[in-house]
Amino acid sequence: MKRKLASVQRVLEVVPIAGADAIEAVRINGWQCVVKKGTFGVGDRGVFFEIDAIPPDLAAMRFLWTAKGAEPAEGTRPAKFRIRTMKLRGCLSQGLLVTLAELDLPADLPDGDDLTERLGVGKYEPPVPMGGGDLRCAFPSCVPKTDEMRVQSSPEVLDELRGLAYVATLKCDGTSATFLVDPFDGTFHACGRNWSITEGNNSYWAVARRYDLEAKLRACGGRYALQGEVCGPGIQKNPLGLAALGLYVFSVYDLVAARFLSDEEMRALAAEMGLDAVPIVEQGEAFAHDQEALLALADGVYPGTKNPREGIVIRPRAEVFSRTLNGRLSFKAISNRYLLAERD
Ligand code: ATP
Ligand code: MN
Repeated sequence: MKRKLASVQRVLEVVPIAGADAIEAVRINGWQCVVKKGTFGVGDRGVFFEIDAIPPDLAAMRFLWTAKGAEPAEGTRPAKFRIRTMKLRGCLSQGLLVTLAELDLPADLPDGDDLTERLGVGKYEPPVPMGGGDLRCAFPSCVPKTDEMRVQSSPEVLDELRGLAYVATLKCDGTSATFLVDPFDGTFHACGRNWSITEGNNSYWAVARRYDLEAKLRACGGRYALQGEVCGPGIQKNPLGLAALGLYVFSVYDLVAARFLSDEEMRALAAEMGLDAVPIVEQGEAFAHDQEALLALADGVYPGTKNPREGIVIRPRAEVFSRTLNGRLSFKAISNRYLLAERD
């Protein structure tokens, strides 16, 4: 499911901020965002911009980057501007809610309407890691790309998981990799997030060579695609503090059955291949967490470091189809401590 960086949303709750008379918080799905007091009541609708959205250069948005007292002007949005996680008067604020009228939008747009394209909203992408390699060809269409939705954007996933055996794994902050033997032409691919990468001196192929992935995948008749996070020196800021490049497997896709293996099957296969899987942070027989509990579980540091961890990824132990996500039930809870500490 693609992120809706700007969409029509309804205010579910208005929360006062102690000691603040000009601002208050509103709840949009699982997000809490600070607004000017009195702008929205419960049930009112507005355009909600999620964190990481790069808002369009429109009159209604320019207050965001215009210094106090200065006149808002076209073309003054700083190059690096994006909607971020912040604290205002001690209150967590994630996102931005603007009235439909301020953006000259018709009042009858449906709830949930995705306005990302219509408004020309951009998305912040973290800097591409060094040694990313050259693009070889498109990402093989026989395997799903890696992605995880945020719990706050689709809180219904909590109801879908409730009562099921579950596993929460550590979100390893590196770069996504997929390795497979193409079932159609038998070529081995090392892929990043969106592309197959040309063999060479890059982190994807370095990992493939280090773990002898091509031979291991061919030994299984090319049946499985491995998906994992490549972490280590030179990738992001190496928050895991690794001495060398490593791979943490988080998914195995069975190309013959066209399904993901369960967490247990994935770990068994990874172990058989001499690979590490993403560490388990918590597991249980019946999922009962609410969003707040998951966000608390997301906070922490990477083992053996003082670096805040990015968060956790939560899944049922056996694969389940999610109607909310229109795909496998799997989602992430990103640590707010990590988001508040982010520097760039
Ligand atoms: P967003 O969609 O929220 O804007 P994004 O698409 O860049 O962000 P990420 O925040 O990178 O997504 O989160 C999804 C990625 O997390 C996956 O593609 C995968 O590479 C990575 N990942 C790291 N650790 C895990 C894990 N334990 N389980 C699943 N995926 C993981
Ligand atoms: Mn994504």
